[in-house]
Amino acid sequence: MPDTSVIYWIRNDLRLADNPALTAAVKAGTVIPVYIWSPAEEGAWTPGGASRAWLDASLRALSEAYAAAGSRLLMRAGRTAEILLALCAETGAEAVYASRRYEPDALRQEASVRDALKEAGIALRMYNGSLLNAPDAIATQAGEPYKVFTPYYRACLAGKDPGEPYPAPERIKAPKSWPASDGLEALRLAPDHPWGDAMLSHWGVGEAAALSALDDFATGPVESYPDLRDRPGETGTSRLSPHLHFGEVSPRQVFHAVASGGGTGLGAAREACIRQLYWREFAHHLLYYFPHTPEEPLKDMFAPFPWVRDAGALRRWQRGQTGYPFVDAGMRELWVTGWMHNRVRMVVASFLVKDLRIHWRAGADWFWDTLADANLANNTLGWQWVAGCGADAAPYFRVFNPITQGMKFDPEGAYVRRWVPELAKVPDKYLHAPWTTPPIELAACGVTLGKDYPQPMVDHDEARKTALAIYDEIKSARR
Ligand code: FAD
Repeated sequence: MPDTSVIYWIRNDLRLADNPALTAAVKAGTVIPVYIWSPAEEGAWTPGGASRAWLDASLRALSEAYAAAGSRLLMRAGRTAEILLALCAETGAEAVYASRRYEPDALRQEASVRDALKEAGIALRMYNGSLLNAPDAIATQAGEPYKVFTPYYRACLAGKDPGEPYPAPERIKAPKSWPASDGLEALRLAPDHPWGDAMLSHWGVGEAAALSALDDFATGPVESYPDLRDRPGETGTSRLSPHLHFGEVSPRQVFHAVASGGGTGLGAAREACIRQLYWREFAHHLLYYFPHTPEEPLKDMFAPFPWVRDAGALRRWQRGQTGYPFVDAGMRELWVTGWMHNRVRMVVASFLVKDLRIHWRAGADWFWDTLADANLANNTLGWQWVAGCGADAAPYFRVFNPITQGMKFDPEGAYVRRWVPELAKVPDKYLHAPWTTPPIELAACGVTLGKDYPQPMVDHDEARKTALAIYDEIKSARR
């Protein structure tokens, strides 16, 4: 039988196991795997600094995994369609296999690649490996997209079981001679700034590290997930989000490890975690049907909101210098580790949007650049949820109180003390509002407000009232 060669175009599926596109390519014959860096094709959402640093490290790990399977990972930079066509011409490949991505620009990219390949008589075979359900596989009875999470979730659970993950191919058949690779360095992904390496030192990157993190979580912390998931000072969540974003682990592997570890019956703790996995699915469902939402509110009532433009205030928020310790701890954790706990993401986002009344897009942009898990669907959903302008969002009048949130979810102050060490000696009862500390006690802790740590940049109660008054005005203007 003549040998068939195919190209495997790697996208956000940086793994060998449970990868339907790769499995199909391996079945087809000789495989030429290629990663193509084409930032211009990502539209306005070119990966930010933290994502690029992660991607660089993840591709390095993936190269080693391909080598161990008897293959090689080619790297190219440039226009995707041109590179794929050139590779097909050089290798005689008959088809291109790839995993589907569902962001608007990625879908446009897929369409243009498909057209170009079709003209040359080459098939493009696409597979879903990044979601449990393709975004258009779930619809209301009327055939509409869901805008509320709970019925969406129920519809997903009523559908077919995600099934067993596929094993990694043991060997990947290599071509007799390899096309040239530009090499990872030529892609220039890693930021020049030493910040990227410091951020990565908090993580293990790549498929092996992702599977080990999943195993650690699914055999231990998952059991206390409902109790600890809102405690940023504890290891209460999986921290799998960057691994999931880059496809170092599949959602099916996560589902399977979490669901099957608990013996018979799912159990409330494991179900709570799986529910979050479906928030990720819901976010992709929404982005697919409402592709304008990374830029525009889903509820157009919010379009005329009189956002404040204040570069200085935005900078203080970004740097963790707001004077609210819980907010500042989150923003500093983000800067140092490229990740922030979900509870704190909600609080810092609310502070930006409601206390400072700065546009949620400015916050989403900062997250985009600094989060290692920056993901267009989840980031858009998260910001619009907090701002009150998205699907199934928190109502606008729900304003997170950065003091009481800190007291409730970081009662012993472990989180704040870690990230805001200048307040380490402030007693628990004052820690989340240090300006309430009696001056003598504050001096004994070695803190002078305004010098060692900022005074609060706004009065939360006042800021809340102003935000709600503006909201009422907008609402009345609609009547
Ligand atoms: P776990 O609690 O262990 O959950 C397991 C997985 O489920 C996560 O890895 C994630 O993929 C998914 N998940 C959990 N919570 C959510 C959620 N609320 N929405 C969607 N998916 C969820 N998540 C991102 O992956 N990328 C982003 O860019 C992003 N931006 C956000 C911005 C804001 C303002 C907010 C409020 C949330 C954002 N989130 C984002 C969602 C959430 O904060 C992270 O997914 C979560 O903190 C990741 O930590 P974990 O892996 O330990 O989650």
